[in-house]
Amino acid sequence: MDIPRIFTITESAHRIHNPFTPEKLATLGAVLRLEPGARVLDLGSGSGEMLCTWARDNGIIGVGIDMSQLFTEQAKLRAEELGVADRVEFIHGDAVGFVADEKVSVAACLGATWIGGGVVGTIELLAKSLRPGGIILIGEPYWRKVPPTEDVARECEANSISDFLTLPALLASFGDLAYDVVEMVLADQECWDRYEAAKWLTMRRWLEANPDDDFAKEVRTTLTLEPTRYAAYTREYLGWGVFALMAR
Ligand code: SAH
Repeated sequence: MDIPRIFTITESAHRIHNPFTPEKLATLGAVLRLEPGARVLDLGSGSGEMLCTWARDNGIIGVGIDMSQLFTEQAKLRAEELGVADRVEFIHGDAVGFVADEKVSVAACLGATWIGGGVVGTIELLAKSLRPGGIILIGEPYWRKVPPTEDVARECEANSISDFLTLPALLASFGDLAYDVVEMVLADQECWDRYEAAKWLTMRRWLEANPDDDFAKEVRTTLTLEPTRYAAYTREYLGWGVFALMAR
């Protein structure tokens, strides 16, 4: 079981697989006012940076599940490195339908809401692991500027304009599901640069090390086109944020 290889090539050097910086992650951990010992579940936990740093800085206990073997291994190494391996557990597996054995104070899915078939389904899934009064975290893109055409939306790597909402519409949609939005931390364009531009050097180095790989042609094309596409489209049109929700 694994994710498509292109991600483990382009994001092999990322600790955070989203347009979020370590500072934003720390801000999020701080604004949630986590109690030491609070349990946090993370579906699509990637390389584990959120749970590992929150275990170190905020004293949480974490469980993460992710389908990528590489990212899960990196998460376990990071836990060792930060001295929190006794407080965080990383499971390599499919998070679809995953419900924690023990209820959690915070149930999160950052940048992987396809796990629940979209935002609505992911909130329903996370709610099954949540203790009463707990917080759900959803990390999701939104349109900073609505693309003028469907072609522009596709250049932003969306399937269509309807894939995402504007920020006010996204916030209102949580209200429609009977959730209060109790906090949010938003990415800015420099956060996007850290996520997207960091892939370019990784790709360049990978190409130098793997010139004869089956994927080399695809990675070469991506590296050639990506900076301009990113600057013209994703960076201009797409926002990203983490939204903290509590049931009304
Ligand atoms: N939340 C992490 C990772 C976001 S990237 C972070 O912010 O760094 C999306 C992650 O979802 C990837 O790590 C990918 O491996 C994982 N993923 C994709 N489909 C999944 C599934 N069905 N179950 C569990 N993880 C999945």
